[in-house]
Amino acid sequence: MEEIKLFCPATIANVSCGFDVLGLCLTQPGDEMIIRKSSTPGIQITKIGGHNLPLATEKNVAGVAGLALLNNLKELKAGFEIEIYKHIKPGSGIGSSAASAAGAVFGINQLLGEPFSTKDLIPFAMQGELLASGALHADNVAPALLGGFTLVRSYEPLDVIKLPVPDQLMATVIHPQLEVKTADARSVLKHSVSLKSAITQWGNLGGLISALYTSDYNLLARCLHDEIIEPLRSVLIPGFDEVKKTALAHGALGSGISGSGPSIFALSKDKETAQKIASAMAEVYQKFEVDYDIHVSKINGDGIKIL
Ligand code: ADP
Repeated sequence: MEEIKLFCPATIANVSCGFDVLGLCLTQPGDEMIIRKSSTPGIQITKIGGHNLPLATEKNVAGVAGLALLNNLKELKAGFEIEIYKHIKPGSGIGSSAASAAGAVFGINQLLGEPFSTKDLIPFAMQGELLASGALHADNVAPALLGGFTLVRSYEPLDVIKLPVPDQLMATVIHPQLEVKTADARSVLKHSVSLKSAITQWGNLGGLISALYTSDYNLLARCLHDEIIEPLRSVLIPGFDEVKKTALAHGALGSGISGSGPSIFALSKDKETAQKIASAMAEVYQKFEVDYDIHVSKINGDGIKIL
């Protein structure tokens, strides 16, 4: 195989009670990438469509993640060209950088004849996340690569578990065109939590995982709460409280900040409810005269797809 074309999906990280450990994969939106073998060693980003992002290999998460893989294999002579067609807006909080980092390592691994399992690609993709956000986190790249819900059970050593997805589960995501700087989203975090909040959070996270295994939507709804991060970060997103309240009033099982924001997600039990929630969320930002993008998506059980 000389060339591969991929669909690289958006993802929701944290999912309320799973800060830095839980993530899920969406069916829409997603980027497209074309990766081909080249006689020039290393990685060249030859084209980026849709958004203005750096072409320099060491400044683009696709380049950095791809090089991490090649360096590990000591494939000094291997060369690849990458074209990226962005549909996931960078900085939206739905894993724009993760889609590119995960896509690059997935595609290169395929073209090299799969020396790594998909799970083993996660640490290379995380090097891209380090470039994008300054932190080595896997809660977007893991669901982008593996699909469904994923849990990072441990970072050291890395231990990622793929979780089942209830059949009917839908996500609604609104991306208000507001800027939330990753640095601000990180700087509002506290470095210690009260025992009381920790107990609530790990109770909810354990319950949520049980709900995924048993397709228990009522239990899922009881668990989709975040006592620790959401109260600190939501103040950075004008309209958050109203959007969340509206989503819950229209039947959402739960609603919260997607990644570090400003996107806000809601989960629901069926497509009709997910669409009703989308219209209701949109009305809030129409009232505030803030532009937005909105996505209604099934949970994507497969992750990155070869086109
Ligand atoms: P999101 O909030 O949607 O997950 P991130 O904040 O993770 O997006 O990533 C956006 C940052 O990563 C921006 O600073 C962007 O310039 C940088 N970046 C570098 N390469 C890429 C790429 N291929 N795709 C998206 N963002 C990239």
